[in-house]
Formats: sequence, C-alpha cells, structure tokens
Amino acid sequence: MTRIGFIGMGTMGLPMARNLVKKGFAVTAYDLNAEAVKAAAAAGMTAAASAAEVVATADIVITMLPSSPHVEAVYAGDGGVLAAARKGTLCVDMSTIDPGVSRRMAAGAAERGVRFIDAPVSGGVPRATDGTLAIMVGGSAEDFQAALPALQAMGANIIHVGPVGSGEVAKLCNNLIAGVAAVALSEAFRIAEGFGVDPKVVTEVIAKSSGHTWVMEHMHPVPGLVAKAPSSNEYRAGFMTDLMCKDLGLAVDAARALRVPVFVAPAAQQVYRLASSHGLGRKDFTSVYTFLKPSSGQSPV
Ligand code: NAD
Repeated sequence: MTRIGFIGMGTMGLPMARNLVKKGFAVTAYDLNAEAVKAAAAAGMTAAASAAEVVATADIVITMLPSSPHVEAVYAGDGGVLAAARKGTLCVDMSTIDPGVSRRMAAGAAERGVRFIDAPVSGGVPRATDGTLAIMVGGSAEDFQAALPALQAMGANIIHVGPVGSGEVAKLCNNLIAGVAAVALSEAFRIAEGFGVDPKVVTEVIAKSSGHTWVMEHMHPVPGLVAKAPSSNEYRAGFMTDLMCKDLGLAVDAARALRVPVFVAPAAQQVYRLASSHGLGRKDFTSVYTFLKPSSGQSPV
C-alpha cells in the first residue's frame, strides 16, 4: 500500500486527504494547527507531530499550504521535508505558489535524490470534497505517472502541463481570469441593479451571451441566484479574498519578471486588497460584490 504523508490539513487539505483515505491510501497527517490534526485523526489518518515525522514513513509527501513562504519553510526550513525525506521519495506540492519557488524546491530536492512536482488545483471546497478537482501538474513524465493514482483519488481532470513549475503557471493564468471575472461581474450587476433591472433575468441573458463565465455559473457574486454559490451562504469561503489577492499578486509578479504589460490583474488585486482591509479577507472572494456597492454621496459623476 502506498503510504502518503500529508502536510496542511486546512480548508482544502483535509477534504483532499479524506478522499485518499476513502480510496485506501494510508495517510499520516500534520498541520501547525493541532485542531486540524485532530480532525484528520477523526477521519482515519495517523496524526503526526512534525513535518519530519510525516516524511519518515512516506512514499509520497503531499503538501497543501497557503503560499510560497510556507512551502519554502516546510521543505527547506530546519527539520523540513527535504532534510528528512529518504532518497526516491516523491514530493507533490499542491499549494498555489510562485513557479520560481517550485523550481527552487525541485532543484534542492534533486540534490538529495528526492523527487518534486507541483500539482496545484482548481475547483474549491466542493470539488475537493467530492474528489473531482482539476489538477495541473508540472514535473517529469515519470514522476507524473508515479503520482497519478493518488491524484486520481482527489481529482477528475488531471493534466500534465510540462516541466516543474508549469502546473503553477497554468494555475496563475486561470486565477488571473477568475479573479478579474468576479470583479467585472460585481461591477456589471451593480449597474444592472442601479437601473432596477432584475439580476436573475440579467444572469439568464449573460448565460446565453458573450459575457458568460464559469464564475457566474458556479460562484455568482449576487446572493440568491445560484444556490450552491458562497454568496448564497453569507459568502462563507470557498476561496478566500486573501488567497485570491495572493494569486493575483503572483500573476502580477510573474508578469513583471517577464516584462509583460498587465493592466486588469493589478487593478483587480487592489480591489481585493482593499476589500480585505475592510474585513472581507477570510470571506469568499466573490464577497467583493458587497464591497463594490454604490456610493451614497453626491459626488459629481
Ligand atoms: P488554509 O489556510 O485553509 O490551509 C492551509 C493549512 O496549512 C492551514 O491549516 C495551516 O495551519 C497549515 N500550515 C501553514 N503553515 C504550515 C506549516 N509550516 N506546517 C504545517 N502546516 C502549515 O488554505 P486552503 O484554502 O486550504 O488553501 C491551500 C492552498 O490551496 C493555497 O495555496 C490556495 O491558494 C490553494 N487553493 C485553495 C482553494 C480554496 O478554495 N480554498 C482552491 C484552489 C486552490
């Protein structure tokens, strides 16, 4: 039986690891948060007290952490995964991070005879729960094949994008589009409402027109139009505003490094940052709609 060490039992990691258990993998779990480790143990996983303890018995190490600094700390920090892993261990980082960090971790792993691939996900909590995430993988063909059975326990659409870092690149491109779409939808529906036009009817029109997006279909920012959307559940995340802000920042940083001119991604990032500073950081990113409400003032147009 393949033994999996899973680090990061958060919003996404816990339901993903639960699916590994359901599919018969032996999972050892670790998180800085002791409550999260308890929840993992209650779901049939072996609780570990450190990253090194997880790695000691694992054939495959999976990480699902907030961002680049967390991944760097868990892999390359004192008592980290790279120092503790046996030669040949396959590390699969499923966090959304800077592709450059993935490449650095892979290089550090290779120096120790450890394998590393990036495999970020899309689909949010509902798909993490039902095991149908989209997973975009960067790494060698051999490592991709070795990780595939575990990835198939957590996802439905698993695509090998290219060498290490490529999965993260695909993910950043996707989230740039989704992040901008939620701001655009919020602006559009505020205008429709301002004119007194029924948002339900506007949604029906857009669904059959060129403005249709996945975000509107599944995560409509206006409450009450899509039953399963976070907006219909008080914007409970879902995918937090702070994480979307982070992902747009990663896309903007990548564009800057590549000297690609970008206009809408930095604008959308600032909207999320401001929404976060007004208390929406841990709400779903579509709560940006509540932030973009009409001004009550009399300022000239
Ligand atoms: P989260 O903050 O809920 O979970 C992260 C977990 O990592 C937390 O439980 C935290 O305690 C743990 N952690 C942090 N540092 C650690 C360390 N040094 N050692 C051990 N554990 C540590 O975040 P999440 O929503 O699960 O997101 C995880 C990643 O998945 C992020 O990169 C995010 O961008 C990406 N993602 C999230 C969603 C979503 O809908 N939430 C969707 C797609 C991708």
